[in-house]
Amino acid sequence: MQHSPPQHFRNRLLTPVQYVKGVGPTLAKLFEKKGILTVEDALYFLPRGYEDRSHLKKILELKAGKKETGFGEILLSGIAFYQNKKKRVFEAVLGDGSGTITLKWFRGNERYLRDRFKKGRKLIFSGEVRWFNYQKEIHHPDVEVVDGDIEKDYLNFKRIVPIYSETEGLYQRTLRRLMKTILDGYADELSSPIPPEIVERQDLINFSEAFRRVHFPPEGESVDTLNLQRSDGHRRIIFDEFFFLELGMALKKRGVALETGVPFKTDGILAQKLLNLLSFKLTPAQQRVLSEIKEDLEKSHPMNRLIQGDVGSGKTIVALLTCLYVIECGYQAAIMAPTEVLAEQHFLNLHRWLEPLNVKVALLTSSVKGSEREDLCQGIRNGNVQLVIGTHAVIQEAVEFHHLGLAIIDEQHKFGVVQRGLLKKKGGNPDVLVMTATPIPRTLAMTIYGDLDVSIIDEMPPGRMPVETKVFPESARAKVYRMVEEEVKKGRQVFVVYPLVEESEKLDLKDATRMAEHLQKDIFPQFRIGLLHGRMRGDEKEAIMTEFKEGKIQILVATTVIEVGIDIPNASVMVVEHAERFGLSQLHQLRGRIGRGRYPSRCILLAQYRSSEEAKVRLRAMEKTTDGFQIAEEDLKLRGPGEFFGIRQSGLPDFRVAYIIRHTPILIEARKEAFRLVQEDPELSQPSHAGLKEVLVKRWKGRMELATIG
Ligand code: ADP
Ligand code: MG
Repeated sequence: MQHSPPQHFRNRLLTPVQYVKGVGPTLAKLFEKKGILTVEDALYFLPRGYEDRSHLKKILELKAGKKETGFGEILLSGIAFYQNKKKRVFEAVLGDGSGTITLKWFRGNERYLRDRFKKGRKLIFSGEVRWFNYQKEIHHPDVEVVDGDIEKDYLNFKRIVPIYSETEGLYQRTLRRLMKTILDGYADELSSPIPPEIVERQDLINFSEAFRRVHFPPEGESVDTLNLQRSDGHRRIIFDEFFFLELGMALKKRGVALETGVPFKTDGILAQKLLNLLSFKLTPAQQRVLSEIKEDLEKSHPMNRLIQGDVGSGKTIVALLTCLYVIECGYQAAIMAPTEVLAEQHFLNLHRWLEPLNVKVALLTSSVKGSEREDLCQGIRNGNVQLVIGTHAVIQEAVEFHHLGLAIIDEQHKFGVVQRGLLKKKGGNPDVLVMTATPIPRTLAMTIYGDLDVSIIDEMPPGRMPVETKVFPESARAKVYRMVEEEVKKGRQVFVVYPLVEESEKLDLKDATRMAEHLQKDIFPQFRIGLLHGRMRGDEKEAIMTEFKEGKIQILVATTVIEVGIDIPNASVMVVEHAERFGLSQLHQLRGRIGRGRYPSRCILLAQYRSSEEAKVRLRAMEKTTDGFQIAEEDLKLRGPGEFFGIRQSGLPDFRVAYIIRHTPILIEARKEAFRLVQEDPELSQPSHAGLKEVLVKRWKGRMELATIG
């Protein structure tokens, strides 16, 4: 049944796929499952791989140990039983006159498999060929049911064919046929307004042509290059995605440079006083970063800087000194932390330094209520309070400042891209300093923090004791307890950390609570055990933290609320329960809570993995290195950037094709070109740049303040 469009789509690329010839409502539903609603979505649905079918091999010629593609007819199919009938496997035996091969499925819906792979059907199959009982076989092959004459089928044979990601009911041949229709009908509508001089300099092919080639590669392309997404077509499409990301970044950065802010010029008397109070000297790295910040402060446009420094590198003191410069100039500063516990920690730590300096500091969290809160807000409004420490949400919420000069955002990766707009509303045009302990690989930094200047504290304060990390299986629990006991007897303190995964938050909370009780009653009745989790009230948390700090509690059972910023130098052991559930970067953050004092420290990862190989590899990486950068790179490789940062929430455009790690060289080129363009034409007012704004707005979906570019 063919439906005609109810209206004419001015932008034909936005035509719903349903109205494409040969699609209709049923297939449209299946497309929708893949997130494909419009013709444009379909064009961006690039093949996940390619197969060279220019010459199909005979089954006899297929070699074990290699990924091969073959063709044959199903001679028989059905369920086979293995291991005393305990294991059911669906099998199809195929022949082509030269030999036979068995295709095997160990999982999957049996009815569906039976239905699809009936005796007599012809199949194209591919996958890694193995030997088993003197037979060739492939496990979970990619398959395609063939009908018609393959000698005359130029879409599916006699060429490099695209392999799409399938869904039940929507298979390769249908996909290929429809993609061909869509390309023929709509590819010409695709355009990318990247200016001709860049196209030329970067040697980019025509945009529409890129899509045609990527879906149906022309003769002469290399299948390997295609599979690596390194063909000219891929490069053109990926360049386009990165270019508009970086163009947005370049404009954002330029926008900040155009704003006027307050030039903070001081003699740094307060800062000097603080430095005299400290029991330590700043490391050269801290000094360097501080002077970079000072330079920014003195400029007449707002600072927008990221400080990156591994856990324990001493970012807090740098932040505080920055606050003091601004406060000395008569302005207010705010430090925003991701959690209440961390805000409270900052407050407790900074408070004792600020008191002798006579600087008025206040803690503002959601647990400050009633008249106390009113007084506090009043003080912030009239400028009596000079430094406000609180959670991100609280400070952005209802607080009015007298004269906010500086906003510091701690552990930024928890928030995503800086909401400068929100901060601006707090009055004036404050300088912004973002701090993160997550060592961001350079490539990611270019994308996520592409509009910030970056300072790196690449040196640890002297005298840190290394943390030794070891993975233990559940069966070694008793031994782990003995290690804990020994350490507490020596006067040290211990963290026991429980994961808190969002979907099972309640359950895990119960685990942690039960664990604390169990440890207190059954294992360590002679010690005091404390419990700390995110659901506790602010004052409860504070009480526990204080007792732990004062050494009244020896073992603190906690959820990941302690992940960032907690500073207890006497804690020398951390036991991480269910370590397999944590990401590497998170484990690294956690581990940063120990090894802060004079004592050799130990991080014990208790893993309850069943068989997940990936978890094992991950945890081994923790044993091998304490270098945050290495761990981050590893994490990024294992999990991909989306998970690593929750990029979806970070306010950046989503990539449809580009993959930051794999396509780094293209990213670097695209960034160079975008920044160069904005330098030459900051308003994008040249005629050849007219189309750029429109695409920018579309890609960034309003997540960028484009007002500044008119
Ligand atoms: P992070 O960078 O993880 O936020 P912190 O700022 O919490 O690290 O610093 C960790 C510990 O190191 C704190 O106890 C802090 O007082 C101490 N510290 C910071 N700078 C130095 C330094 N230059 N020398 C010695 N100790 C320092
Ligand atoms: Mg910190």
